[in-house]
Amino acid sequence: MSDLAQIHILPEHIANQIAAGEVVQRPESVVKELVENAIDAGATAISIGVKDAGRQLIHIIDNGSGMSRADLQVCLQRHSTSKITTSSDLFDIRTLGFRGEALASIAAIADVEIRSRRINEDTGWVLTARPGMAPETKPIGMDTGTQIFVRNLFYNVPARRKFLKSDLTEFRYISESVQKLALSKPSVRITLTNDGVVVLDAKPTDLQTRISDVLAINAQQHLLAVSGTEAGVTVSGFIGMPSISRQSRSGQFFFLNGRSIVSRQLAHAIASAYEHLLDAGHHPVFVINIEVNPQHVDVNVHPQKHEVKFENERAVYLLVQKAATDALMSSSVVPAFVGNLSLASQPLQSIHLQHSPDGSQMLVNRFTGEILPTTSSGIPPVQSWSKQTTTQFPASVRQGYAQLFAQPDTTTTVQNTNVMVVGSQFIVVATHEGISVINQQPAHERVLYERVLARSASEPSAQSLLFAVRITLAPSRSLLLKEFLDEFQDIGFRLEIGADGTIDIHAVPSEVFAGNEERTLDSMLQTLEVAGRLPKEQRKERVAVAFAAQQSVKKSDKISQEEAVQLVHDLFQCSVAHLSPRGQATYINISNSELLTRLTQ
Ligand code: ADP
Ligand code: MG
Repeated sequence: MSDLAQIHILPEHIANQIAAGEVVQRPESVVKELVENAIDAGATAISIGVKDAGRQLIHIIDNGSGMSRADLQVCLQRHSTSKITTSSDLFDIRTLGFRGEALASIAAIADVEIRSRRINEDTGWVLTARPGMAPETKPIGMDTGTQIFVRNLFYNVPARRKFLKSDLTEFRYISESVQKLALSKPSVRITLTNDGVVVLDAKPTDLQTRISDVLAINAQQHLLAVSGTEAGVTVSGFIGMPSISRQSRSGQFFFLNGRSIVSRQLAHAIASAYEHLLDAGHHPVFVINIEVNPQHVDVNVHPQKHEVKFENERAVYLLVQKAATDALMSSSVVPAFVGNLSLASQPLQSIHLQHSPDGSQMLVNRFTGEILPTTSSGIPPVQSWSKQTTTQFPASVRQGYAQLFAQPDTTTTVQNTNVMVVGSQFIVVATHEGISVINQQPAHERVLYERVLARSASEPSAQSLLFAVRITLAPSRSLLLKEFLDEFQDIGFRLEIGADGTIDIHAVPSEVFAGNEERTLDSMLQTLEVAGRLPKEQRKERVAVAFAAQQSVKKSDKISQEEAVQLVHDLFQCSVAHLSPRGQATYINISNSELLTRLTQ
């Protein structure tokens, strides 16, 4: 028989070590908790220094409200907090901390020294504590605020110490955490030094500048402001242009009432706004603040408070998605196009006029085709820039065309005589207003793309083949085809995949020429191969893009006059006529007055 069990209460310092495991997993956790405390104390400047990636020393200095001697004497005890008093306060958390566990947990596994001077007090106090020993306080002369030194982390918990990774990795965790905190509070100066070397010195500023300081992003070129409000929820912040998307989620930051949160759903909401502006495996960059009445948020879910729950997640999802979509739309990086990086960041292109007497240039907005008047320096006057940035697409673009053709856009008819095929690449259309130069291949891609997307699965406009065409695809391609089979059917293919990897093509979309079935299918699959896994909603578009790219007339294809007239007509029926589905401009406009200016200069 075994001895009777002897239950005893663990000495407090041992119990604290166990709890500490949840709060303090690595040096980064200490940094995060202490910086959060400084933020809660209203600091406007916080300096963080570490030695040996925090193993030897973590040193945080802030200019916040400070603590009195009485505060210092209790702050290391578990559940000692100044931030909540009653349990109902738990439903209205406005600070980052509230559990009163961080300092106790840290003091259980390291030597801690806290120097603090409260506002309006003449002297500061220093508290020194070692695990298992009674802390002491002494007066000390110092500025208002708090300085905390955490030394010899985990020296009494070898198991923890053993699990730490290399200094490089541990420091990376620290700097990522500081990065996040810096993004959450642009108005606070934050510095980080590693073994005496300044790694980050972020001056107080606005969010946009903070993002460029911390993430090394060119804010002017690559960030789009996002905002939206709905039913008490406010979304603000910035999203990155498609060109700066990353192959990891390392550039994604959500803050809910100033607290960093991780949310797969909300990240999806933003990614979905980009549609296929992003290459497969790329993730958008964003820094998004969500403000909700704290009473509608439950942060008390996870000890490290990464996860929060908020009421009405769906509404927040839609709000975030809409805000991101609006931002992309108003920047002309319209969703439903494959983004062209240089195009996205530099819509204005300068073009040399061959026959201009002084060889002068003009600036063309490659999104809209609009031509901007240039000054002699080649820089457009301020007015036209500002006009440019406020233009809304695509509605106004279509309106512009309605005017150009002096007819409502849906009933545009193009006069045969006004259309001219130039070489085997361009079509020039003369109107009362001037001329439009259309690039035939991207224009045709746009037309085909919208046409197949408009097709519904029930009437796919397929042309049945009298005899099925049997082809064999490489195993990876036939797997891909299986995955996209529904989408292929939607746009007019009827395919049967045999067990042995053969494919019988029974019908193809009406645009496919006889004899071209295999090549069309194969080259579409080739395009899709790079797309990787896609959410269901994006697949049909991807297939449509691949189809349009494959089927369009090519640069060197000579098209007939009738085909050109048809193409021009079809193009201006499109909902987004100015860009191909792969992001190329489909046309530019040159107005009569522009021609006149150029010719009389
Ligand atoms: P919590 O932040 O959850 O309240 P902590 O253990 O992190 O718990 O801190 C305990 C208390 O110590 C805080 O509530 C706060 O009153 C005080 N405190 C900690 N750090 C600071 C600081 N940098 N400046 C002022 N007060 C602080
Ligand atoms: Mg805290």
